[in-house]
Amino acid sequence: MAHLNPTNQVIVVGAGIGGLTVALGLAKNGFQVRIFEQAASLSEVGAGLQLSPNAVKVLRQFGVADAVGQHVFSPQYACIRDYQSGRYYLESPLGKHIEQRYGAPYWHVHRADLHKELVQACYAAGVEIELGHRVLGYRNEKKYATVLMDKKTEHADIIIGADGIHSKVRELMLGVQAPIFTGQVAWRGTVPAAAIKGATVQPNATVWAGPNKHLVTYYLRGGDLVNFIAVEERAKWQQESWRQEGDVNELRRKFIGWHPEVSAVLEACDSTFLWALNGRPTLEKWHDNRVVLLGDACHPMLPFMAQGAAMAIEDAFVLTQTLLKYDYHFAFDKYEALRKPRVTAIQKQSRDNAALYHMHGGWQGRMKLQALGLASKYASG
Ligand code: FAD
Repeated sequence: MAHLNPTNQVIVVGAGIGGLTVALGLAKNGFQVRIFEQAASLSEVGAGLQLSPNAVKVLRQFGVADAVGQHVFSPQYACIRDYQSGRYYLESPLGKHIEQRYGAPYWHVHRADLHKELVQACYAAGVEIELGHRVLGYRNEKKYATVLMDKKTEHADIIIGADGIHSKVRELMLGVQAPIFTGQVAWRGTVPAAAIKGATVQPNATVWAGPNKHLVTYYLRGGDLVNFIAVEERAKWQQESWRQEGDVNELRRKFIGWHPEVSAVLEACDSTFLWALNGRPTLEKWHDNRVVLLGDACHPMLPFMAQGAAMAIEDAFVLTQTLLKYDYHFAFDKYEALRKPRVTAIQKQSRDNAALYHMHGGWQGRMKLQALGLASKYASG
């Protein structure tokens, strides 16, 4: 279809992983892109991210995979292990196996490294990034859209709201609705591998499954750091902030009696962040005339498939492709139609994994974990 109404100028709200990736994809394809970010400086939290081949393929397509690849760790297996005995419920090959199967590697990357390489690639592609600008409103006009910020007002053909789970753009489009607390919190941290004593962390992406809790361990930065995410069920989350510093001693107490590999990581940890894990029901729409949502702004998910950032990166690819082919009206329709069923299924699977990793149902929960291991053996045999 020919362009009915060519889109040249794009404003992206938010310089997170989703916003930077879509800005990069569009700029590389000839769009003029400006990002407005509320933070005064460009930075990311000190934590790891699993990047599956679907996400790595997009980074390749947008020319940033080689740069990101310099900082990663390639895990050998994805495992689910018993929190006490360490017995393997599942051991599924990653490494070369997954690269041959899907045509791209499975990586563990520090968020700050991915973020830094995306920022560099954006600058090289001509993206303008303006910091310290908080978006407060938007307006659809006949021939353009306007973003209203605390310090100024700007116009573009389209606006992409990539402003995360607390998205202002989403609120303006669909009304005020607080994210829903899922009854789970995540402690996150990184530990220098050299500081871990008394046990060797395996070079895998490991989920340690236990009653009403789980903990994930994996290496970053070529094996220099070990990243952990410890998830605990809680009835309430009363803190104002959705991300706060946690108490390391409390964290250690919560995981007393867990496998020596887990204890060794927590013993070596000297600081941690605590995040409330929030969700949203599926949104009735992802776009409003010239304004469209992307990433956590429209589909936040529990991190139990490690796909939140990967889905934002996939969104960036699909939105770029549709805007290259179609007028923005049709492009936004097509983007939502292509993306919604996939992200909704992944949101659901991520929720279901909580019950599996937390052994809900006592011995029946354990049986389900064992069945998972058997199924994967038969599938690979
Ligand atoms: P964000 O990263 O939240 O970025 C939004 C940006 O918008 C921010 O820079 C913010 O400052 C800015 N902003 C917000 N409001 C405004 C405003 N009004 N004006 C201007 N700027 C604004 N995903 C994976 O793929 N793999 C994993 O292993 C993984 N592990 C995870 C573990 C945990 C514990 C959690 C909580 C999440 C995990 N995720 C993982 C999910 C992933 O972190 C998110 O899905 C991803 O960061 C979303 O990116 P985003 O760009 O949509 O939003």
